[in-house]
Amino acid sequence: MLTAPEVKKLATGLGIDLVGIASADRFAGLPADAHPASVLPQATAVIVLGHRVPRGSLRGHETGHAHYVLSANSPMQYALTRTYQFCCALETEGWEAFPMYPHSSDVREMGVPVAPDKPAPNVVLDIEYAAHAAGLGEMGRGGFFLTPEFGPRQFFTAVITDLPLEADAPFAGSVCDACGLCVEACPALALSREELVEHPLSEGVATVYALRKESCRVCPGTGGTGVPYATGQDPWRLGAPCGRACVAHLEDSGLLTRRFHSPFRNEEASSC
Ligand code: SF4
Ligand code: SF4
Repeated sequence: MLTAPEVKKLATGLGIDLVGIASADRFAGLPADAHPASVLPQATAVIVLGHRVPRGSLRGHETGHAHYVLSANSPMQYALTRTYQFCCALETEGWEAFPMYPHSSDVREMGVPVAPDKPAPNVVLDIEYAAHAAGLGEMGRGGFFLTPEFGPRQFFTAVITDLPLEADAPFAGSVCDACGLCVEACPALALSREELVEHPLSEGVATVYALRKESCRVCPGTGGTGVPYATGQDPWRLGAPCGRACVAHLEDSGLLTRRFHSPFRNEEASSC
């Protein structure tokens, strides 16, 4: 039977950057429309896969000279391919492997239940809740999921499986230092340092700055974009001024394990 280290080696061999394992019981207490067991009742674990977004893909937005470079779809295409390959590899060993991708929570109610006691399709996993439960990182104050390796520069996918695996501990470290630079960078005053919002986690809660998502809709030319396969309620903000400020700060402060030979912000950042 595949062990947790073997599963992680399999994933990294496919080019997947980060791998963490959360036991299915870490999702206890979540509603049925967010619970892995709703789609795979025999689920034993959720394997969370992190796919880096190359720093260079933010450069066009940073300098303001090539706004077309980054969209959520391009790095996501590679994430989907690798996740598909990973699922096939688990299936080859005889284990069920159900892939889940980031979705806006508003797609949960698109459809009708297959039975009166079932949640309406689609069941949507909270991918960031899962990534924390799998030990990969934390939710930063700016509402970006931060890993010690890449800060906010990654996508996550997840695989629900019936393969019994030893789980990783939920993330107990810290990446965000509450600098507030994501708030200061926002040209639309969409983030509020005074108003804090709590997000439940498998252990404890994440406290983040309140975000007025409707303000982010004026931001697409700066690098903000919609989550793929969603209706656009949840903006993907990595390439926007808030996300890039976070990248620059975490790198300059030496808070990330992945290092570059030159700083990210070596010239004036683009304005919104
Ligand atoms: S910019 Fe600062 S406060 Fe905002 S998420 Fe990044 S580290 Fe946290
Ligand atoms: S995407 Fe734009 S408007 Fe939204 S928080 Fe970031 S910088 Fe502000």
